[in-house]
Amino acid sequence: MKKYGFGADVGGTTIKMGLFEMDGTLVEKWEIPTDTTEKGAHILQDIAATVHGKMVENDLTKDMVEGIGIGVPGAVDKDGVVNRAVNLGWDIVPLAEELGKLSGMRVKVGNDANVAALGENWMGSGKGYNSIVMVTLGTGIGGGIIIDGNILTGANGAAGEIGHIVVNEQEIEACNCGHYGCIEQYASATGIVRMAKRALAGTSEGSKLRTFGEAVSAKDVFDCARAGDKVACDVVDQVCGMLGATLAKIGCVVNPDAFIIGGGVSRAGQILIDALQEPFKAQVFHACKDTPIVLATLGNDAGIYGAVRMLLS
Ligand code: ZN
Repeated sequence: MKKYGFGADVGGTTIKMGLFEMDGTLVEKWEIPTDTTEKGAHILQDIAATVHGKMVENDLTKDMVEGIGIGVPGAVDKDGVVNRAVNLGWDIVPLAEELGKLSGMRVKVGNDANVAALGENWMGSGKGYNSIVMVTLGTGIGGGIIIDGNILTGANGAAGEIGHIVVNEQEIEACNCGHYGCIEQYASATGIVRMAKRALAGTSEGSKLRTFGEAVSAKDVFDCARAGDKVACDVVDQVCGMLGATLAKIGCVVNPDAFIIGGGVSRAGQILIDALQEPFKAQVFHACKDTPIVLATLGNDAGIYGAVRMLLS
């Protein structure tokens, strides 16, 4: 094992980069903009260039670097081929091969949500567990399943697509995926706002949430719930009820050592974890009723940690 490794987490607007020691020590992190012009044709060159620049800056040679791990927002197969990353403009991109040629280094590729789960498992709140399921509550809902330290990719790179588990067959608005009633439509940041607006429209009850008008956010919902606002508390109970029940179903299939909750919505903190407990325990198979549900701790850095961790396997 060489001493250093690079991690990249490619998003639609920025690429988060990290230089690590392979024991998990973050040496330095930085960001570069994501160039999505010409169908994202320059992204890999930009990554190779920033890695090369950082090696020069730190007097690193290739024989000191294990390689580059990279997480991307799309489905990835076992050979490191990306099958559509809409936010980057990519269709089919043989990423491991192309970035390998550009950088002259070993490259490992994964789906960003899966890679973030691996990062939490390595150096975050999932540390020490053999298997975890991570749920990332952001604009949408991402997920990652880690079994014995490895990402469960699935036959089509779609394992861990927790956000698109259908939880309400009566839903009349469509999810981004085209189906109706996915958990993402309720428990993502956008989903929580949608449910709050529905709740406010359906009652004449006074609520501080009304003062935010159209701009009401998921954070507002949790803040108001923490302050005892009845409508906000009902929304939190409703969305956490659906999410807790979804975790129970996942528990029956995966039986992980722990569930890790991350993403922007998880900044709500303990109120979120507390609200998940009862609906989880009400439905989960008895043998897994004590599975811990904990908050992620690496925040936006989970992706670069996980990217580097991929180089160890
Ligand atoms: Zn969906």
